[in-house]
Amino acid sequence: MRHVIVAANWKMNTTPADAGELARTIGSRTREPGVIRVICPPYVCLAAVGDALRGPEIVAADGSGVAVGAQNVHHEPAGAFTGEISASMLAGLATWVIVGHSERRRDAGETDPLIGRKLRAARAAGLRTILCVGEQLDEREAGRAEAVVDAQVRGCLEGAGLDALGVEDGLPWLTMAYEPVWAIGTGRTARGADAAAMAVAIRATLAALGMSNGGQDVPVLYGGSVTSGSIGEFLAEPDIDGALVGGASLKPDEMAGIVARAGMTAAARRTPSGEPGAPGEPGASTGPGALAAPTA
Ligand code: PEP
Repeated sequence: MRHVIVAANWKMNTTPADAGELARTIGSRTREPGVIRVICPPYVCLAAVGDALRGPEIVAADGSGVAVGAQNVHHEPAGAFTGEISASMLAGLATWVIVGHSERRRDAGETDPLIGRKLRAARAAGLRTILCVGEQLDEREAGRAEAVVDAQVRGCLEGAGLDALGVEDGLPWLTMAYEPVWAIGTGRTARGADAAAMAVAIRATLAALGMSNGGQDVPVLYGGSVTSGSIGEFLAEPDIDGALVGGASLKPDEMAGIVARAGMTAAARRTPSGEPGAPGEPGASTGPGALAAPTA
């Protein structure tokens, strides 16, 4: 059973003065058992968000808190790299990191081999990683979406010695995010079935790369203008394990709705019949979904 994850990518929004309050509000309104929650603020807000998330008011009934993630990491451990942040510098500030986001591929010229180096650096430092892949609109329209994403996954992971999953607390170190570039920040979303087909394709590539258990243990999130209204279409797909949320993750009402829906999926995955059980019902805090999400 794969875990259900909702990760918030705040992008270049919030300041150290207001990020803590927003994180606390979101954390206190998303206490669904079995949902791994991650908030990824800008670097300068990591400490404020981590401090704000230490309180008991954000802890779910299964004992899990909200983990803190960075939005990027440098591939080298230290050195003359002005303005950069290495994985070891994130110790005590973040336990997750987003790698290969399309906005960094676009704006910072990040390539698959470079992203692979970031993955290695992050893993060596014990960070859980969310690796983003996704096609452009013209690539989808040309019927090349799967081929493009296959090449991205291979380019990031192949030959990098990253085939072993390194499962800790029931969760692999690697989480994938399928984010069609044409859906990010545009209000357009993929169809749930199309996103699920891409999740299957991503796991097929992981299997071809030799990842243990054919990549079946790797969570695949959908990202691209997810809201509380659209999340259900994606979580209805068994191959999709949650969402990487951008714009909507800055809105507590939206996050409350998204995580509430994710909680239904988490409860259904814990129920042998597969029927949704209301989060918080007896039994909802047992089983592998009840792991304490790593906190910073
Ligand atoms: C993202 O930044 O990963 C993202 C999915 O953004 P949005 O939800 O705003 O499209």
